[in-house]
Amino acid sequence: MRLVLLGPPGAGKGTQARLLTATFDVAHVSAGDLLRQAVADGSELGQTAKSIMARGALVPDEVVIGIIEERLRRPDCASGYILDGFPRTLRQAEALSEVLKLLQAPLDRVISVEVSEDDLVRRLAGRRICRVCGSMFHVESKPPIGACDNCGGHLYQRDDDREDTIRHRLGVYREQTEPLIAYYEKIGLLRRVDGRGTIEEIAGRIRQALGDGLVQS
Ligand code: AMP
Repeated sequence: MRLVLLGPPGAGKGTQARLLTATFDVAHVSAGDLLRQAVADGSELGQTAKSIMARGALVPDEVVIGIIEERLRRPDCASGYILDGFPRTLRQAEALSEVLKLLQAPLDRVISVEVSEDDLVRRLAGRRICRVCGSMFHVESKPPIGACDNCGGHLYQRDDDREDTIRHRLGVYREQTEPLIAYYEKIGLLRRVDGRGTIEEIAGRIRQALGDGLVQS
């Protein structure tokens, strides 16, 4: 299965991607995680990306396309993957389609996870993440007890999860990424999923949307 999860920041793409990865035994390819890793490694690319990410802007297309292309060519992607946070611009979507043409492995489905802007701000501003295992918590809906429930690790708030940066990221999404919904709808790959409710409810809707696709194709 080759799947793209599309949706604004805070729609729960990362959480759903992790669930789907476990269910279907495919690779999780998160553009944001790959970039954060580059920042943590202190590579040249990471140094370029760091300040761009902290202010909630998009890292240049060529940089992200290069990282994703390299990742999709690794052996663990041969049996499928969930792309999370990529593509985010029309240019990235076109580059992805070129790469997949070369690999002779087209996308099966694009799922758009849809959530209202007020809900997104609430979700993102309350988000806390474990520095050790990456588990996600929320100060309202899934409050941690001091440290990570899973491994005891230290919890942190992402630099770009502060309210002014969140508003900026949502603006960037509306302008640059939302047009991809129409792009993928036009070529018949898109399924829309209501992103409200619990993690399990949303996961159920995604499974249903994938099932519909399999029946139709
Ligand atoms: P995320 O973890 O998906 O919310 O991504 C965090 C940040 O990484 C974004 O706000 C961007 O600065 C950068 N980023 C992630 N994916 C992309 C992408 N496909 N294109 C450009 N920048 C990206």
